[in-house]
Amino acid sequence: MARQFTNRVLVTGGCGFIGSHLCERLIERGADVLCVDNFFTGSRANVEELLSHPRFELLRHDVTMPLYVEVDKIFNLACPASPVHYQFDPVKTTRTSVQGAINMLGLAKRLKINVLQASTSEVYGDPSVHPQTEDYWGNVNPIGPRSCYDEGKRCAEALFFDYRRQHQTAIKVARIFNTYGPRTHPSDGRVVSSFIVQALLDADITVHGNGSQTRSFCYVDDTVAALLRLMDSPFDVTGPINIGNPNEISMRELAELIIDLTGSRSRIVYRPLPQDDPCRRRPDISRAKEQLEWAPKIGLKEGLLKTINHFNELLMRPSSRTDL
Ligand code: NAD
Ligand code: UDP
Ligand code: UDP
Repeated sequence: MARQFTNRVLVTGGCGFIGSHLCERLIERGADVLCVDNFFTGSRANVEELLSHPRFELLRHDVTMPLYVEVDKIFNLACPASPVHYQFDPVKTTRTSVQGAINMLGLAKRLKINVLQASTSEVYGDPSVHPQTEDYWGNVNPIGPRSCYDEGKRCAEALFFDYRRQHQTAIKVARIFNTYGPRTHPSDGRVVSSFIVQALLDADITVHGNGSQTRSFCYVDDTVAALLRLMDSPFDVTGPINIGNPNEISMRELAELIIDLTGSRSRIVYRPLPQDDPCRRRPDISRAKEQLEWAPKIGLKEGLLKTINHFNELLMRPSSRTDL
């Protein structure tokens, strides 16, 4: 009997920030979604509205353990992403990236399906090439406090390309740059959510260093749109491919913009710069434009306003304030 057409998509880390938005889009597109998460940084609350959907299934599972399921595509997002969380248990962070990649690649190899890796701009470390193109090999401290994340992700990329060379696995590697939006964990120290919550509470805004370091922020809907395009791209489009918004801003300017948009009375205060904090970061997205016909659509102000609304609502709910 001919195999019936199915569209079963596995999303690891699906209860996290980006994963939960991805699950929503996939459900909207008619997919059956199997969301796998160990709830380290993600939560059921992030997928609350999907839980009763007949095409959504949630499995508590750790990707460092083998997973035998039948699916048609894999998005591998499982990994804590904020420095506070990935440095909490750095050995586990490396295992999640490396053993998690091996297990998802093994699954993809057995099923002969596409597997997409959520890699990161952190593979470029503190970059000496600016903006960063995919052929830049990076400047990463292999033994510092960020190494568990950076080197774990670099090793995962190597594994993806070895599975392609050795087993012809259909791989897709996305190098995601700083993404923001609703459902970032409000207390995980990521800069956009931290500044917004501080501004909404009229608390001091904690800029690290002198605030001259830059990042380029991409709104989550744009990031998810790019991941979906990459997954649907032809076999030869493997990446690595930068996914981000080239609009670069310093942390001091970001603090001022958020104070302005929230009408906050917060003051800016300066705190020590964490070790190995990259000085600047901006993606060159020529490859994504050309190969995926994708470019971000949501500007920083528009995205920040949506995110501010989200955290405003969260702060109004007394039960969630204990989280902050
Ligand atoms: P997040 O912390 O909100 O989500 C990660 C999810 O993975 C959480 O739900 C967590 O519980 C789950 N998880 C962690 N370890 C696991 C394990 N061993 N087994 C199963 N589940 C596990 O982070 P995010 O911002 O949504 O990031 C998602 C992915 O995108 C990560 O792989 C991250 O490295 C990558 N990424 C994110 C950004 C960003 O700016 N948000 C930038 C670059 C790359
Ligand atoms: N694996 C998995 N699900 C599968 C197939 C494999 O979790 O459906 C895991 C399994 O733990 C294995 C790893 O993926 O060790 C790598 O698989 P591969 O076939 O590449 O190598 P193996 O170790 O089986 O020789
Ligand atoms: N940052 C800051 N104040 C904060 C949190 C972060 O100035 O309260 C800085 C941080 O030192 C870094 C930038 O903002 O220079 C982005 O930090 P984040 O942790 O969000 O992302 P990453 O460093 O992983 O790009």
